[in-house]
Amino acid sequence: MAFNSAEINGFSDIWVFCEQRDGVLQNTDFELISEGRKLADERGAKLVGILLGGEGISRAAGELGGYGADKVIVCEDPALDVYTTDRYCNVICDIVMERKPEVLLIGASNIGRDLGPRVAARLHTGLTADCTHLDIDMERYVQFLRESSTIDVDSVKFKMEDTNLKMTRPAFGGHLMATIICPRFRPCMSTVRPGVFKKSAFCREKADACEIERVEVRLEDAALKTKVLEVVKETRKMVDLIGAEVVVSVGAGISRDPKKGIELAEELAKALGGGVVGASRAAIDSGWLPSDHQVGQTGKTVRPKIYVALGISGAIQHKAGMQDSELIIAVDANESAPIFECADYGIVGDLFKVVPLMTDAVKAAKEAK
Ligand SMILES: Cc1cc2nc3c(=O)[nH]c(=O)nc-3n(C[C@H](O)[C@H](O)[C@H](O)COP(=O)(O)OP(=O)(O)OC[C@H]3O[C@@H](n4cnc5c(N)ncnc54)[C@H](O)[C@@H]3O)c2cc1C
Repeated sequence: MAFNSAEINGFSDIWVFCEQRDGVLQNTDFELISEGRKLADERGAKLVGILLGGEGISRAAGELGGYGADKVIVCEDPALDVYTTDRYCNVICDIVMERKPEVLLIGASNIGRDLGPRVAARLHTGLTADCTHLDIDMERYVQFLRESSTIDVDSVKFKMEDTNLKMTRPAFGGHLMATIICPRFRPCMSTVRPGVFKKSAFCREKADACEIERVEVRLEDAALKTKVLEVVKETRKMVDLIGAEVVVSVGAGISRDPKKGIELAEELAKALGGGVVGASRAAIDSGWLPSDHQVGQTGKTVRPKIYVALGISGAIQHKAGMQDSELIIAVDANESAPIFECADYGIVGDLFKVVPLMTDAVKAAKEAK
């Protein structure tokens, strides 16, 4: 029977597209599988990962079970080794049309942002891009609104039996959060920001119990419009902001001497223990650091153990990327800078004077131990 995305009752299960690069699963896969597990439990559904890659990729699939996948569908073919839009889109759409998942989640990486809209258009369903929160269960969603919105939840009559995926994302430049549903078509599709969801603890038993299904891939040359001739990798090492336990970020406050400001941040990050340097968009736009250092709504979402903001005023778009950090320390010359609203410790002063003192104090405390 022909696939019809509007016949919504025929769809079930929560699916996660699992991205690999050079045969290595990405952190976003584990974050999305962990979050997908919660959604599958709320819906009483199975959680299925879908993994495409070149020869040997099926060996990586079991790991996804360790984070909560009940099953992983593996499409292994040399032609899927390197991502191309049309190959991946064709393969995924064929399987989705046949199996009909109710939800399809994709990491909002460069690949996911390219793949998601193409798949959604082909399937004729909706896609909410760059989500930061997901719910199915209404009670959990109402609780989320109670904790993180200004809505007077008790005066609103919610449809508690609603089982649509509720996809929340920043809107209007981060000034408000919008929850979007896709009630008339399936699957409900969402791309999800890397680093937003926590990965759960890995469980060896679950990894061993995970069902792996290999699916034969049909790739007809006529349908493929792109060919990978060569992969050229950028040699510059990108900063691993999302995985870092300590992030020391600089903002426009270093403008008096950007080079010195970055040096001070690097020294503090090193003293605190293998930290990395992040930045506000103002610092990136000024050309002081490359864009992979940007923290915030249009940069990376981080949740390190320690986040230090140096000369960053704390615009809502910056906070969106760091406010869930375990401990936040802010240094700013302006005592009413909004960054102090989310900081656990705030120091009002000139960062060029304060940061060397902080670094010395950290070093001295470590030596004294
Ligand atoms: C759609 C959209 C998306 C955006 N996405 C992002 C994003 O992802 N990330 C992001 O960061 N921003 C983002 N922005 C920009 C954001 O709105 C702010 O403009 C930006 O975060 C400001 O950066 P800043 O705090 O470094 O600069 P400013 O707001 O100029 O703050 C500089 C701070 O430095 C302090 N200062 C100055 N000199 C010193 C000194 N010597 N010592 C100590 N403190 C000093 C000042 O008191 C001030 O508080 C976005 C904006 C839009 C509209």
